Amino acid sequence: MRIRVDGIVQGVGFRPFVFGLAQSLSLAGSIVNDLRGVAIEVEGIVSHIAEFRARVVSEAPPLASIQNVISESIPIANRSVFEILASHADGERDVLVSPDIATCADCLREIFDPMDRRYRYPFTNCTNCGPRFTVVRGVPYDRSLTTMAEFPLCADCAREYHDPSNRRFHAEPLCCPACGPSVRLLDRNGIAQADDPIRKAAELLSSGKVVAVKGLGGYHLAALASNENAVKLLRSRKHREDKPFAVMAPNLESARALATIDALEERALTSPRRPVVLLNRRPDSDLAHSVAPSNRFIGVMLPYTPLHHLLCESVKAPIVFTSGNVSDEPIAYTDDDAAKRLSPIADYFLIHNRQIHIRTDDSVVRVSRGREVPQRRSRGYAPQPVELPLKARRPILACGAELKNTFCVAKRQHAFVSHHIGDLENFETLRSFREGIDHFRRLFDVNPAIVAFDLHPEYLSTKYALDLKGVEFVGVQHHHAHIAACLADNGEQGPSIGVAFDGLGFGLDGTIWGGEFLIADLAKFERVGHLEAVPMPGGTAAIKQPWRMAGSYLRKAYSESENVPAHLEVAERNAHQWPQISALMKSRVNSPLTSSAGRLFDAVAAILSVRDAINYEGQAAIELEQLAAVGEDDAYEVAVPAAIPFELHGAALVRGVVDDLRAGSSVDVVAARFHNSIALMIVNACDTIRTARGLAQVALSGGVFQNQLLLERTVRLLEQAGFRVLTHRQVPTNDAGISFGQVAVAAARDCAARCQGGGLVQWEPF
Ligand SMILES: [Zn+2]
Ligand SMILES: [Zn+2]
Repeated sequence: MRIRVDGIVQGVGFRPFVFGLAQSLSLAGSIVNDLRGVAIEVEGIVSHIAEFRARVVSEAPPLASIQNVISESIPIANRSVFEILASHADGERDVLVSPDIATCADCLREIFDPMDRRYRYPFTNCTNCGPRFTVVRGVPYDRSLTTMAEFPLCADCAREYHDPSNRRFHAEPLCCPACGPSVRLLDRNGIAQADDPIRKAAELLSSGKVVAVKGLGGYHLAALASNENAVKLLRSRKHREDKPFAVMAPNLESARALATIDALEERALTSPRRPVVLLNRRPDSDLAHSVAPSNRFIGVMLPYTPLHHLLCESVKAPIVFTSGNVSDEPIAYTDDDAAKRLSPIADYFLIHNRQIHIRTDDSVVRVSRGREVPQRRSRGYAPQPVELPLKARRPILACGAELKNTFCVAKRQHAFVSHHIGDLENFETLRSFREGIDHFRRLFDVNPAIVAFDLHPEYLSTKYALDLKGVEFVGVQHHHAHIAACLADNGEQGPSIGVAFDGLGFGLDGTIWGGEFLIADLAKFERVGHLEAVPMPGGTAAIKQPWRMAGSYLRKAYSESENVPAHLEVAERNAHQWPQISALMKSRVNSPLTSSAGRLFDAVAAILSVRDAINYEGQAAIELEQLAAVGEDDAYEVAVPAAIPFELHGAALVRGVVDDLRAGSSVDVVAARFHNSIALMIVNACDTIRTARGLAQVALSGGVFQNQLLLERTVRLLEQAGFRVLTHRQVPTNDAGISFGQVAVAAARDCAARCQGGGLVQWEPF
């Protein structure tokens, strides 16, 4: 029998597994890696072959991800042994690259075994674990095409590499203290310290120093999480005011002292992908206040490289492990860059001489509605493909959005969503965007025929797209991309009702959209409802200063003659500027209109005195969610739209908020009722759309749905009303999911164009 297995089956111990399985069943034959996966041939007792065929799938190594198995009978060749054959490297490449994988239990045992030759060796790995995506320069996946190429194997390692019964058989990054990379500890002037760098670094952390640590996909900045002075120092040097820091806990037990952890959260924390998991913080934990100021949640991860394990073993306490950068810059991943940018922040550097080929940030997930949901999909996940619900007829590149950018390349049913790139306004980020696209094109052998982009003419991702030559363009409206991403993420093609609530996205009518009700399939959409547009006084200043949106909504909620209610704190606090923004809105100068739901949350946050200005994106809304009283079920009166198309009056909700405040309700109760009212408003609106069009499925997407309180409430109410609800599963609901949505739209339009015999549904020049 010949068996083809496609998917992630290289670099994950698949060949030794198959070798062992064939031997145990007394089967002869061969296995070979090729450009799509592996090809196996076996001969022997028929029932054994059937068993082999079943167990190849059911017992595959933990890191293998099998996507397709095809078997066929072939003539008997009378072979007597089972062999592993040399790889083929010709033909069209279609092999998948594995993400980076956390240190496995076997390697961990060796690292802490004084009798093992890899005792305390920080680069120990095997076919079941270790660096992959971050060290791969090209394919096929082979040591010579990784950053381990400069470390020739010693005789002992070579023996393991060539022994099919060994756990390190063809483990491309394998190494040992004799032949592999090594760590060093430097002070900020580059002077080497002590001869036990890891123990010394641990001592420094324990004594309150800030240490930069070179990891898998970039540098981290580390400080003892219980030491308020150390964490505060790190914050001030990093110029990061309030945004929470993630913490690395030495083990699960220590993580339990920081946060409550249920079974699913435990599974996420200990998975080989090792993301940062957002958990409910315990009020009695000994975390320094500055780790996550005014935040109910704490991002926790467990060690995922031998270096982390060794460091944590010496420190014996949770360590702040935050990205190695200043403020919003991209994380440092080359040694020169780290020395330059991080020496004003870190007192010491724990570094090593294995190069990081591509910058990859930590991933962030949370558990919601009984499953793991990505907030940032990067290390440990990328570049594993997300499957499209339809095959892309031609290769596609999607350039994504501006903030939290990812790009995506697609080939047939595979969508390769990139690692987290970041906010493109920064030059360095733009460079990693360009280099990342080149890398993915080479890695996955994709030469795009179609390029998809956001309609916002000022997005740098859009400008990059439109500079490309010899391709067809597909412009995708921002909120259509969100809904398409949610549909495709669930394997659906629509049509469906789509609710896209986010900060801002380029609209088709000259206003800025962000509180949108669509009817959409992957190829097209219709805007059937939205929040009534209000001015953003001062334009982008209104994003940074939510009190301006409070001013705008209050002006809308109360007619000129009524005036804004007296003694409203937000107006009193900002009295000196209040007349200016009124004038701006009246004269319509620098006051673009927006239907953004994010801005409505900002307005209410400012009215409830959560904050008037923000230090990071979404801060006001995040803090409003955290303020909300648990268990509050009331909502304000919310109108049911009579027919489509409709406008929903956010200002009416603002009136409800103000009336409630003035009636003496506490701010936490008002915050909860506001969330409940938004959920109710969504359900009422979807009900009207269902009546008009007979659609009973709702896809929820956009950054506003990172708000767990809103998401869970909305889903519950929709399901109670008989709707089928789709939410994100594999790509984030925020703008990091836009590139995946763009790919889905481009693939669907390309298919539709072929079926209808016309050209691509086109985009008009701006
Ligand atoms: Zn291992
Ligand atoms: Zn060696």
